[in-house]
Amino acid sequence: MKFAIVSKGDERSNKIQATMKQHLIDFDLEYDETTPDLVISVGGDGTFLEAFHQYIHCLSRTSFIGVHTGHLGFYADWTPEEVEKLIIEIAKTPFQVVEYPILEVTIRDQDGGEENRFLALNEATIKTAEGSVVFDVEIKGSHFETFRGDGLCIATPSGSTAYNKALGGGIIHPSLEAIQLTEIASINNRVFRTIGSPLILPKHHTCMLKPIGQKKTFLIAVDHFTKNYSNVKSIQCRVAKERVRFARFRPFPFWDRVRDSFVADDDV
Ligand code: NAP
Ligand code: MN
Repeated sequence: MKFAIVSKGDERSNKIQATMKQHLIDFDLEYDETTPDLVISVGGDGTFLEAFHQYIHCLSRTSFIGVHTGHLGFYADWTPEEVEKLIIEIAKTPFQVVEYPILEVTIRDQDGGEENRFLALNEATIKTAEGSVVFDVEIKGSHFETFRGDGLCIATPSGSTAYNKALGGGIIHPSLEAIQLTEIASINNRVFRTIGSPLILPKHHTCMLKPIGQKKTFLIAVDHFTKNYSNVKSIQCRVAKERVRFARFRPFPFWDRVRDSFVADDDV
């Protein structure tokens, strides 16, 4: 089996990276950063997001696992103290794989020329650097509302505990193949009206955002990466056909992770 390790880059994470790499090589596993079967992220959830995007071209063959060197993470849920145990578990391959749904975002420009397709592990947000965004929101081909406000967030189930949660979105179990739309400060008055509550869309219920008015430049964030897009005609969001694979060596149920991260103050 081939593996790679992505480190947050701080001293503690680099040390764990070096230890794991050496031990796994001693167990006859092959270190390979180009086509790994297993990617180990050492750092936080942010590091895990980076690892995911670094290996996005081989999601169907690569599984991920995360060790946290800060607080407990949603993706990085192994502690530095458990690393030795984890090394032995990895060396005993094959491992169990759990798959979670991810989000597909397609940005099309006015001239029908360019089409940018992205996959998000947490979410995509659409904002503007100036004033508010105005766009028609279509769901499954039907006009749903005209949104005006700071922006919209479209989250995956595993990303529902991140930005989505701060926006008042619900926490969705990742066994549900869905995406969630939450509003970022919508303007509601006699002229503009939006639903106001988060919407949860199942697989195949595509959501399309179509800018109206003069403003066609948007700040679009896909997980931790933000870029400006001008001349935007539409932004399409749906559950991706691709999925993210997690290597599972012990049960740590999603709701236990939610509890340990947000409710219980021990074990963090
Ligand atoms: P960051 O500013 O360090 O991330 C913000 C926090 O979100 C960090 O504590 C991060 O954990 C945590 N996080 C990331 N994914 C999570 C998940 N699926 N469930 C629960 N918490 C999660 O930036 P970053 O580390 O590059 O992460 C990017 C993410 O930040 C975005 O995808 C977005 O979800 C989130 N974000 C949140 C807000 C907000 O809540 N108002 C605003 C902007 C962005 P670690 O410390 O372990 O990295
Ligand atoms: Mn972070």
